[in-house]
Formats: sequence, C-alpha cells, structure tokens
Amino acid sequence: MSRLFSLALLASSVVAQAPTVTTVYSSGSTQSRYDIVILGDGYQIQEQPRFNQDVQTLLTSLFQKQPYATFANYYNVHTVFRASVDSGADQPDVTPPIYKNTVYDATYNTGGTARCLYIQNTAQALADAALAPANEGRVLVMVNDSRYGGCASTFAVSYNGSSMAEVQIHEMGHSLGGLADEYDYPNQTYSGGEPSSPNITTSPTGQKWAHWHGTEGVSAFQGAGYYLYGLYRPKNNCLMRTLGVILCPVCREQISIRTNAVVNTIATFSPNTTNVSVSTPNQQIFSITHFVPATNNPVISWEVDGVPVTGANGPAFLLDSSTMSLGPHTVAVNVQDQTTQVRNDPAHAMRETQTWQVSINDPTAAQLRIPSFSMSQVWAQPGQSITLNAQIVNDGPAAAGPFAVEYFATTNQNWTPQSLYLGADQINGLAATQQLNLQRTVQLPWSLEPRVYYVYAVVDRADAVYETNENDNQRLSAFVGQTGPCGTHLEFVDPLTCPYDANSVPVATGGVVHPTVVAPCAVGSYYLVVWGCSGTTPGTPIAPGLTVPLNRDFCTDLGLIGLNGTWFANFFGVIDAQGLGRATFSLPANTGLQATPGHFAAMLMDAGGFSAVTNPVAITLQ
Ligand SMILES: [Zn+2]
Repeated sequence: MSRLFSLALLASSVVAQAPTVTTVYSSGSTQSRYDIVILGDGYQIQEQPRFNQDVQTLLTSLFQKQPYATFANYYNVHTVFRASVDSGADQPDVTPPIYKNTVYDATYNTGGTARCLYIQNTAQALADAALAPANEGRVLVMVNDSRYGGCASTFAVSYNGSSMAEVQIHEMGHSLGGLADEYDYPNQTYSGGEPSSPNITTSPTGQKWAHWHGTEGVSAFQGAGYYLYGLYRPKNNCLMRTLGVILCPVCREQISIRTNAVVNTIATFSPNTTNVSVSTPNQQIFSITHFVPATNNPVISWEVDGVPVTGANGPAFLLDSSTMSLGPHTVAVNVQDQTTQVRNDPAHAMRETQTWQVSINDPTAAQLRIPSFSMSQVWAQPGQSITLNAQIVNDGPAAAGPFAVEYFATTNQNWTPQSLYLGADQINGLAATQQLNLQRTVQLPWSLEPRVYYVYAVVDRADAVYETNENDNQRLSAFVGQTGPCGTHLEFVDPLTCPYDANSVPVATGGVVHPTVVAPCAVGSYYLVVWGCSGTTPGTPIAPGLTVPLNRDFCTDLGLIGLNGTWFANFFGVIDAQGLGRATFSLPANTGLQATPGHFAAMLMDAGGFSAVTNPVAITLQ
C-alpha cells in the first residue's frame, strides 16, 4: 500500500469518527465556573452509552464527596466522545502483549508501573478537549477497560471498573488539587528537601498544616510521597493514600482553594459596567448577586475608597454623592466565603471582589486636564532652547474661565515650589469639550546639570477654575541634561524665576533674589556683579575687547559702595567648584527708593586681569 493511500484512509477514518461534544453538568456560565472536560478512550461507537453511564457514575460519586459536595454549584462538566476502533487499552506487560487501536492510545504499564494507565496520543486528547466550551486545563480520560489502573499528569486517567470513581477522584486530587500521593513504598527513606505539595512534609510535627492539628485526627504520620521514612502525611488515612476513604482536611482545603481561585462567585453586578459616573448630589445604587452557598456563611462587605463602610453588609449599597468630593473614587464589594473547608487562605481565593471606578462630577463644573505633553528633544545642553508641546482639554460640562498653564523642571518626580520655572501660558478660557494645543519654546538655564530632569506641565495650579477633579492637572515628561561648552553667563537661580533674566523686587516689602554667575571653565577666578539703572548700551569698556553691558551710574556706585554688605552679599567672590558665583541681592522694606528698572551684569578676573563679561539680566525695583 502506498504511503499516500494509507494517509487517505486515515483521514477518512477520522472524519467517520467525528466527536460528540455534550455539557453533562451545568452550574452556570463558563466564565464564572470551573470547567472540567471528560474524554473517553477505548469505547467503540456502540459503547457510547457505556461512556455516558461511566461519566454519570463518576459525577454522582464526585459530588457526594467533600469538598466537591460543598462546591457542587461551582463546576461545569463537558464530555467529548470520539469512538475508538477497538475496545479496551494496550497491555504490553501481559503474555502475549495486547495492543488496541484506540483514539488516545491508552496503555497500562506506563513508565514500567503495571497499574499506571495513561494515554500516549496526548496531542489528539488536547485537540479534542479544546472542542469543549471551556476547560481550566483539567481533562479526565475514562478508559474502557476492566483491568485496574490509573495515572495522572496533564490528564487524569482511570479505568472504568468498580473502583473507577475512587481512582478518578484520587487522580483529580493530583491534577486539580496539586496534591501529592500520601502512600509509601516499603523500606524507602526520603532525604530530599521540603516538598512543594501541601499535603506531605519533612516536618515530623506537620507545621505545614498546623492550622488543622486536632481536627479529624490531623497530626503528622510518617510514611508519605512513596517513602516509608522521612516524609509525613496529615492524617492516618486519606483518599490520596487509600481508595475508599475520604479526602483529609488538608487535601480538601487545597481543592477548595484551587477551585475558588478560578470561580467568580459574583454572578451579576449592577451597574454592570465598571466605570460609573454620578452627578452630585444624586444617589447611586450598587448591587450584586452571588452563588456562595448559604451554608458557607458568606459575608458581604462594601468599601468606598478602600475604607469599609460600617453596617454595609447587604447585597445592595446606596452611595450618596453629596457627601463625597468631586473626582475619581472606588466602590468595592467583597464576598467572603467562610466555608469550614478552608482555614488558611493567604491569597484570598475564598474572597471575591467587584470594584467600580466611580467618577463624581458636578454638572456646573469644568474639568481641565492635560491629555498629552511632550518635548522637542531628549537631550539638552545648558542655555539651549527646547520646545514644549502641551495639549489642554476641558472635559467638564461647564466652561472654564481664565487660567494659566505653567511649566516646571525638577530633578526628582515631585514638583515643589523650588523647581525650575520654565514659564507660563495665560489662557483666557476654554469652553466645554474644547481642546487647545500649546507650544512654548523655553531657554534652559546655564546652570543646568548633567542629569535627568523631569518637566511638568501644570494646568490651573492656582485653582482659579472650579473643577470636577482638581487632582489630574499635571503631566510629566523628561529630558537628560548634558555638559555644555565653556561660557560666562549671569542668571537668577531663584525658584519660579530661573532661567529668566527678568525679575522684580517690591520696594514696599523688600525681597531677595540670587544673581548667579555660571562659568564652568573658570573655577577659581574672581567675579564681580555690578548694578546699573540707565540701560545696557553703549556699556562700560573695562579692557580691550571687553565691555560690561551696563552704563555706569548712581546704582553702580551704590552697589560698589555696599559691595558684599547686607544688600549686595557675595557680589564679589570666587567661582566655586561647581563653576558658580553665588551672589545675593537683599532689598530691605521701605528704603525710600523709587521704582527703578535696571540690570545686573558680571565680569571675571584672573591673574592676567579682566578675562570675561556676562550678559545683562533685568532687575526692577517696583
Ligand atoms: Zn490528604
């Protein structure tokens, strides 16, 4: 027979045996429940009724056993039946060996253990299991053979003789519960580390299940996990050790937790969207239904913004928006299953939570926000110009009056009043739903350091506009400052002023500003900051090719007379190790001075005389 012909035969036989998919046990939606899939191997087409009967026998037994009885309403069971050519399973360990043509190729003596009945065509089994409406990775295979056997790995496999249900539920302990075998083999001593399985331990006192000590005879019994010595089990006997007995409390707890980790016990919730908008002062009802059995004593609790609401323990909760601040909040409800099957639940599998994001708005309020903010470049040098692009939007139902959009640079991710001020855009107003694209070019300070700078755009920092949410008014961007070329510059380093060369000090109340010489290549040189009140041109020549951009006048003399005194502290000094000359101008209140526009400028001196002059910066007494 040609290979092509044999492939064609195989294909036609597969088509002839199209599988039957049936939901045999339904508790609810596949999204909310734990879905189990059962396959059959070694059932001929006329044996499908036997398969169906075997499944019913298993389910009847399963839901009579704890913890499955308690959580019977948490499972769906689907079957996928594909007929086999032969009846039964391979028995390679008998004489003569028996080989059967079955869909998943089940065989005894898997791995050399006579009673280990497992399937070899796992790819076909996975493909068939995927035909079910859903499964949680838990696939059982019933094998139509009367020889005792079963094994579990990816699949839980059992024969269909008289102990079928016991074997299959034991195997589910492995696959669903993540449990170890509690039986032992003679004369074996364990010498490994602590097993990860929850139901066996190297601890002779059974610390792992200390919370069950004394219940139903739970203690620590030597002999478990295939070793007679060195491993301990929780109870003298358990289905994970011997067929025909109940699962011990430790095993039941694990199966309960693993089931509940998948199941969502909150069946319905209202509003049935997780984003809820409430207009103050309206009230909003939140409610749920759940299917935790009443015998498990479920406790419902409601929280607003993470804080439990005293007395709110029913299925419905009334939120009074008039008692809450405008803006985003959370409402959450917890359903805590208090089943006696579980005592230790660190991951809170037995608690189901539904959370709503609730936005409380005032129909009379605007809502300013910065949906995007970016900068023209990632790298920048001292004194370089960068362009800031900010998008401003008013999401609120009401128009916003005048406000400012301000820009700050900081060296950490928190904006403080000490941050570098990069300027502001004054906006006359913004209608409801209106959007505005702002572009602003700013010059970075000469004293910029080589490090990461964060830049904030802040809308309405002064809270001039009444907004639904005052806590979403800023957005962050960043750039990396680089070392710049040599130069000599003067600038103010005061908060909210730097790097601007315009500043003013009120004569009535006085004030302090910090003119700072930035000369990174002149560490150790002398600097002198001077004042002038009569313009910057033509300036004052001080050496060939060097002209200070100030006209000398009475302000200049006042500064030189008071040099390094109270008003003009450190106006003469030495450029420090950071390349900065840090002067301080302190104007006392009510000196009798007139309002005066003027400038500061600085010059540098070294052993050879005057070496450089700076730009002028404006200083206005007003
Ligand atoms: Zn057990």
